[in-house]
Amino acid sequence: MMHSAEVPFNVAIIGAGIGGLALAIGLVRQDVRFTLYESAGEYAAVGAGVGLGPNALKSMDLIDPKLRGMYNQVSTGNLRLEKKNVMMEALLLEEGFGEKQGWMGGEWGSPTFERTSAHRKALLDIMTSLIPRNTVKFNKRVTNIQQDTGKVFVTFQDGETIETDAVIGCDGVKGFTRSAVLGSRYSDLVDPKYTNKYLYRAIAPIEDAKRVLGERATDAAMFMGPGMNWSIYPISKGAEVNLVAFKKDARGAWPYREYTHQVDLQTMLSDFEGVDSRLLELLKMYAKPVQWSLHHHITTPTYYNAHVALLGDSAHATGPHQAAGAGQALEDALVMSRLLGLVKRAADLPTAFRIFDSLRRPRAQKVVQTSYDAGEIYTFAGPETGSDMAKVTANCNERFLWIWEHDLEAEVRIAEKMFRMETGNA
Ligand SMILES: Cc1cc2nc3c(=O)[nH]c(=O)nc-3n(C[C@H](O)[C@H](O)[C@H](O)COP(=O)(O)OP(=O)(O)OC[C@H]3O[C@@H](n4cnc5c(N)ncnc54)[C@H](O)[C@@H]3O)c2cc1C
Repeated sequence: MMHSAEVPFNVAIIGAGIGGLALAIGLVRQDVRFTLYESAGEYAAVGAGVGLGPNALKSMDLIDPKLRGMYNQVSTGNLRLEKKNVMMEALLLEEGFGEKQGWMGGEWGSPTFERTSAHRKALLDIMTSLIPRNTVKFNKRVTNIQQDTGKVFVTFQDGETIETDAVIGCDGVKGFTRSAVLGSRYSDLVDPKYTNKYLYRAIAPIEDAKRVLGERATDAAMFMGPGMNWSIYPISKGAEVNLVAFKKDARGAWPYREYTHQVDLQTMLSDFEGVDSRLLELLKMYAKPVQWSLHHHITTPTYYNAHVALLGDSAHATGPHQAAGAGQALEDALVMSRLLGLVKRAADLPTAFRIFDSLRRPRAQKVVQTSYDAGEIYTFAGPETGSDMAKVTANCNERFLWIWEHDLEAEVRIAEKMFRMETGNA
């Protein structure tokens, strides 16, 4: 069905990650015309898990209830029913997980939170099934974006230039679109900043994880220690566990051009001296000795420039310590698609983007900052919590609520009302 616009407009979405795909699904629902351009040759997801909180699930519901229904089919909770509302058990990384110090474990969560995680590939597969194949163009790496009197010209690596009415950059933490939005005004804020942390990751079969960790393997846990923290949680309907081992980096800067860096097994293991031998065994068996550096956009002064906007990690890439980055991308996609559904003429696109920026940026940037703070807390560098696990757990039981319990229906209502008032559209 054609969009009900008086003058139809076209949107170019750059990037087919969780943000770009969620936006595409939202635009299909709102009958907004779009083309999605992805630099890779096909839909691709790194082999890792992703956990989604109630706000992310609510976003799915409001973008397209089918998406939420399909997610329910592929997602996995904690395997012990009594841990249904637990986000993470809180344990120590040291041998014995803290028992030697008398710490028998804590946990954080909320009655309003239900643990769910999925394999990224499974999440991408359900998302792409909701997007018409003819709206997606692969092997399209954006290399230039220019604006001229209300039109945007996008050039790709293959030499093609297209003309469109709006560009929404969903091209991730290192996305090119960021330079088109910020470059002329805030050039020092285009590149992501190093969080001074890198990680190793692994996916292990649940049988092996259970053999090594016992029943602990079936439920999400955060293991903490000075300068390092590890998370583990079930994915793939309980058939596998996702393991991420984080290490603080004292060097102050990531010294390599690429964001990943291959090391040898010994280097990887020497990063985790003093860690419980069971965890090390899992790491040794299943993690490739590759360091993944963590970068974020701790400061982004605006998410738009006239007809070009940023969404997801290109706007607010965050460290993963609150498992909230994809959730923010889903929230963005919800608000952006509802706003674009109201646009009747291309000239109103910057108004939609300004409202998006004013509503989304304060919340998403707060997620970036508090995620960094959470990483500090898990590594015993929190100024108020230190290495006191009771304080750490109490902090974690509070710090997620504003993320999870956000009223998204109200945010959408406010966005729509603002747009109608500012444009005079009924
Ligand atoms: C270790 C780790 C664990 C995480 N765990 C969680 C979690 O549990 N829960 C959670 O909510 N979040 C989590 N996150 C964050 C989450 O993964 C991201 O916030 C989310 O995937 C961002 O999606 P995106 O679509 O914005 O960007 P991306 O997924 O990075 O997608 C960007 C897309 O743009 C394409 N692209 C890039 N440049 C160009 C170009 N020039 N032209 C065309 N296409 C281009 C890329 O190929 C890619 O497909 C985690 C992150 C990390 C690093």
